[in-house]
Amino acid sequence: MEIEFAGAAREVTGSCHILRFNGKTVLLDCGMFQGRRGETRVKNATLPIEIQEIDAVVLSHAHIDHAGRLPFLTANGYANPIYCTAATRDLSAVMLADSAHIQEKDAEFLTRRNKEAVAPLYGMRDATTAVDRMVGLPYDTTFDVVPGLRASFTDAGHILGSASVVLECTENGTRKRIVFSGDVGRAGLPIIRDPMPPQGADVVLLESTYGNRDHPPVAGARDQLARVVTETAAHGGRILVPAFSVGRTQELVYDLHILAREGKIPEIPIYIDSPLAIDATTVFAMHPEIFDRTEDLVQKVQELFKFPLVRYTREASESKALNSQHGPMVIIAASGMAEAGRILHHLAHGASDPRNTILIVGFQAEHTLGRRIVEHAPMLRVFGDEVPLRARVEVLSGYSAHGDRHELQQWIDHVRSDGQPTGHTGAAPDVYLVHGEPEAQDAFAEQLRAAGYPSVHAPTPHQKITL
Ligand SMILES: [Zn+2]
Ligand SMILES: [Zn+2]
Repeated sequence: MEIEFAGAAREVTGSCHILRFNGKTVLLDCGMFQGRRGETRVKNATLPIEIQEIDAVVLSHAHIDHAGRLPFLTANGYANPIYCTAATRDLSAVMLADSAHIQEKDAEFLTRRNKEAVAPLYGMRDATTAVDRMVGLPYDTTFDVVPGLRASFTDAGHILGSASVVLECTENGTRKRIVFSGDVGRAGLPIIRDPMPPQGADVVLLESTYGNRDHPPVAGARDQLARVVTETAAHGGRILVPAFSVGRTQELVYDLHILAREGKIPEIPIYIDSPLAIDATTVFAMHPEIFDRTEDLVQKVQELFKFPLVRYTREASESKALNSQHGPMVIIAASGMAEAGRILHHLAHGASDPRNTILIVGFQAEHTLGRRIVEHAPMLRVFGDEVPLRARVEVLSGYSAHGDRHELQQWIDHVRSDGQPTGHTGAAPDVYLVHGEPEAQDAFAEQLRAAGYPSVHAPTPHQKITL
């Protein structure tokens, strides 16, 4: 039995791990590498393994850094099943179509710039074929992946449909229980359930995105949101929110719905200005069976994402028309780091007005416009023009979809325990940290060793381990 770390090794994107046993080969995730275009283009266009060798894929969730290269597999002839949860399948349909669109646009741009034909990594047809290969399964149900490998999903509490994967692998009479965390969420996030760590493992592949960070509690985020909306509306300004279309946007709509019901925000229009967000919201509404039933709004209200203040603008003309409207409003638009998408024209129009607030609700990577805003840069460059930043900037970090170092520790401690109230703790599993930058991984490895996990590793790209 062998695992090769083909992606998200000493970095956060390109999640892909290859499990080989009994002459069978199974991929865990097949995500896109993201970052500087030149570097990632080559990495993404390199197959992680020969297509004909892959017997099956098990997918943890629909985020592009986990699912984004599945259409590249199908474009190259992959025709075996891709196992995931039902909601992941439905979200992937929306997200992979969007990704194909971006790939096609990108190739067009490079073709124009280089004056020679550049083929997209994959197209819309390949995205559709990848979704056709997906087998949507319920949580907590064991299924056969290939002979000798059984698997089940538990809720990772990260985005709708996100899963941790339990793999029971048998080779020559030896049985190993391998747990792949996927991306681990946080307790208390809106709509989705809290992470449900599996129990018992010989080997754990654990994400480590925030292995060196503490997040503020989820609980305060909604109150802060209410304060920002109320204060800005009182000044007659707009609240401009760059947000990822899938997950973060629905959480914000949900929290604004609660605040509107409780009369904690003024009655101003809330525009969801993103076609992808609108499609993703439809998928959310299709899966109430996996909402967090302990939440008040989920119990009381059927239509979580529709209420009198909220308006969905699909057409570009509707989006542009918002510029000529008057009065306070909330505009939620992609992209999450203000690198592209409709948020750019709202920023070009609104960043220089001191009555407005730019509300940051997600991680802003280096070299992005979002990061410049967080750092209060005096001038922003939008569409090639200089725009002075005079709007207020507010940062809410309670919405993070990844657990911090304490939450990750709790998660793996739960995997190690037998789940009994007496709190019996089993032998420490071998831990392989994935999906983290070296700094975060090294700090988290230290923390885990100190907490009684003697065998903690942070594999390098394409490193292979034998089980
Ligand atoms: Zn994710
Ligand atoms: Zn991820």
